[in-house]
Amino acid sequence: MKKISLLGSTGSIGTQTLDVVSNYREAFQIEGLAAGSNTDLLLKQAREFKPKKVSVATKELADRIREDLPAGTQLYYGTEGLIEIAAGTEAEMVVTAVMGSMGLPSTLAAIEAGKTIGLANKETLITAGHLVTKRAEAKGVKLLPIDSEHSAIFQCLNGERRKDIDVITLTASGGSFRDLNRDQLKQVTVEDALKHPNWSMGAKITIDSATMVNKGLEVMEAHWLFGLPYEQIQVLLHPESIVHSFIQFKDTSIIAQLGNPDMRVPIQYALTYPERWPSSSPKLSLAEAGKLHFREMDFDRFPCLRLAYECGKMGGTAPAVFNAANETAVARFLNREISFLQIENIIEEVLNRHDNKPEPSLEVIEESDRLARELASRL
Ligand code: NDP
Ligand code: MG
Repeated sequence: MKKISLLGSTGSIGTQTLDVVSNYREAFQIEGLAAGSNTDLLLKQAREFKPKKVSVATKELADRIREDLPAGTQLYYGTEGLIEIAAGTEAEMVVTAVMGSMGLPSTLAAIEAGKTIGLANKETLITAGHLVTKRAEAKGVKLLPIDSEHSAIFQCLNGERRKDIDVITLTASGGSFRDLNRDQLKQVTVEDALKHPNWSMGAKITIDSATMVNKGLEVMEAHWLFGLPYEQIQVLLHPESIVHSFIQFKDTSIIAQLGNPDMRVPIQYALTYPERWPSSSPKLSLAEAGKLHFREMDFDRFPCLRLAYECGKMGGTAPAVFNAANETAVARFLNREISFLQIENIIEEVLNRHDNKPEPSLEVIEESDRLARELASRL
């Protein structure tokens, strides 16, 4: 039995992780579940998977569900609660599927406790990649990618030497507005933005796909996960989302990973790694797909991707500030306070006013994150 704790159990990745676990009840045991405010779903999950510990976002929410939890389930809340689920159970693996840079303290705590990380929460690596990878290495902790592109690269690297890589290419669907020009983007609504053509995901990452911020974050995530300079990381538009990413090696050979767009596949690979178990996901038929398309990325159409590369190369606090400004701007867009194109204006303006600090400590990162959010909330 592999013991697992799950941070963000009520979200898109969280519920799909529990789908995978449900298919292999005899192989996995859920030790802890952490949610935000969807207490109805958390209670349902607690009854079904019988974790030893659960956590919710606030004390008020905890008080509301205390009576309804199965006997013997311990209840926690807040940041400490999240850390308890990450580091205070017998789980050998922690799946990090909370949204945003709030995932950082709990992921670091799980690493300190020696847990294998199933990493969905990419913002952790973007804000503090140098600290997270250093601690993981010191602790001998594996970071197993769940993000589909990174899972693809990770799979393509099986049996290969990193020094033989020429370039890795992350594919991008282009998001909800890939066929609109910049003029047409002025009119788009929240509802339009939430309609992703290929993937069903949480709201924030769906907006990030439309702005191409998600791909920018993924470029930084790849930099830290695979230890590659930005010059060796490329992005290519691929509207079908079937080639999840690929590596070109120095001998010109390309190795790619393909599949239907279904997050349960990379989630299951992280849970069963290095084994591959049968999946309930529908099989990909290349005959049915018929044609696959690829297009050069247009950095003028997607300026956030250019900004992300710049921040990544700059390092220091710039990536954390990029991420914090984006999180705040996306929340404001979802709240209908700002237009879609203002998201990129806000990110750019916050970065322009930021004084980058190299090799930041956790405290410096947290302070830069806080200041960036404050500025982004009033621009
Ligand atoms: P969702 O928004 O669907 O889920 C977020 C989860 O975080 C929910 O369980 C939510 O709980 C929980 N949460 C929110 N606030 C708190 C809090 N204060 N304390 C504890 N938990 C909290 O996000 P996704 O599943 O889409 O994404 C999760 C991560 O995975 C992100 O980092 C994303 O970039 C990454 N990712 C997602 C992919 C996808 O297909 N969705 C693909 C690749 C990466 P509640 O709902 O109960 O409030
Ligand atoms: Mg992805």
